[in-house]
Amino acid sequence: MTPFRYARAADVPEALRLGAEPGASYLGGGTNLVDLLRETVARPERLVDVSGLPAAIEETAAGGLRIDAAVRNTALAEHPVVRTRYPMLARAILAGASAQIRNMATVGGNLLQRTRCTYFYDTDGSRCNKRSPGAGCDAREGFNRIHAVLGASQACVATHPSDMCVALAALDARVHVTGPSGPRRIAFDDLHRLPGDAPDRDTILASGELIEAIELPPLAYGATSTYRKVRDRASYAFALVSVAAALKLDGDRVSDVRIAFGGVAHKPWRATRAEAALRGAVATHQAYLDAAALEFEDARPLRDNAFKPILAGRTLAAVLQALARGETA
Ligand SMILES: Cc1cc2nc3c(=O)[nH]c(=O)nc-3n(C[C@H](O)[C@H](O)[C@H](O)COP(=O)(O)OP(=O)(O)OC[C@H]3O[C@@H](n4cnc5c(N)ncnc54)[C@H](O)[C@@H]3O)c2cc1C
Ligand code: SF4
Repeated sequence: MTPFRYARAADVPEALRLGAEPGASYLGGGTNLVDLLRETVARPERLVDVSGLPAAIEETAAGGLRIDAAVRNTALAEHPVVRTRYPMLARAILAGASAQIRNMATVGGNLLQRTRCTYFYDTDGSRCNKRSPGAGCDAREGFNRIHAVLGASQACVATHPSDMCVALAALDARVHVTGPSGPRRIAFDDLHRLPGDAPDRDTILASGELIEAIELPPLAYGATSTYRKVRDRASYAFALVSVAAALKLDGDRVSDVRIAFGGVAHKPWRATRAEAALRGAVATHQAYLDAAALEFEDARPLRDNAFKPILAGRTLAAVLQALARGETA
């Protein structure tokens, strides 16, 4: 670990002032950043602790929710409005990490946690463009079972690891950010980047920008939503593939649907092609599989992860069938 200075911000202006210093990083619950410090993947000169900033969850005038970035994952998953109106979000959070980590981790930190590509953390011997731009990518020819099949580039095939973010993508969340150039709102789908030739940049955030809150718009059929995560172990493992979905039926037809996949791309993958194919279609198991196949038409599997498009399709079909039966578990 390299030496750094630490300060706990009392309010947003202080956080922004300290966060504007060269080499500064914000610190939420520290459950990812402290690991990165220990491995010397991250070497900030100044840590600005933002875990003491406001941590409220409030209903908005529009009928949605505003969630401050310092809210702990556990508090968000347990909130009654989240559990009843956005169950996919509660289930996504509870599918992640362990109870102890969820008690520490914050919403802001969850959005900006870094990939779990093992080569990224291996500072001793692995080449990684995300850690050291221009170094190369050992995952391409190496062990790439957990890596991306959609939207990857020659430079990087890493996946985004967050469960919560998959639900936030399906829910059309908006991210409230503030920084040296003032406040702005970012549509969730625009926050995370595909790797392109700059995989070291995970998001579109500028230096010193602070996530202040997330806003969830109302979703009339949000109660009929869920999250399913497929992984190698029943707990304490990241997703091979995950699905966040909400379904609205009109008789035997799909009148509206929201779908996002996790574990398949450098960002939470909003499945707009599959959604478009399903709107108005008769709600059958085959229609769900066909919609997933359309979404993964451009998939470019690597040596070890050709199972992902198939697994994603079957998981989506199982999830939508369950929702059609009125089950959200
Ligand atoms: C063993 C283990 C298993 C895990 N399993 C899962 C899992 O299955 N699913 C899953 O989704 N996650 C999992 N996680 C990851 C965990 O959810 C994240 O570490 C956590 O959400 C990060 O939140 P944090 O508040 O601790 O962030 P920190 O570690 O404090 O920070 C993470 C990043 O966010 C930045 N940051 C923090 N707050 C802000 C802010 N307000 N504005 C701007 N930048 C900010 C920091 O600078 C840093 O870059 C696991 C972690 C561990 C250690
Ligand atoms: S996939 Fe991305 S994160 Fe993993 S080694 Fe390659 S460049 Fe690094």
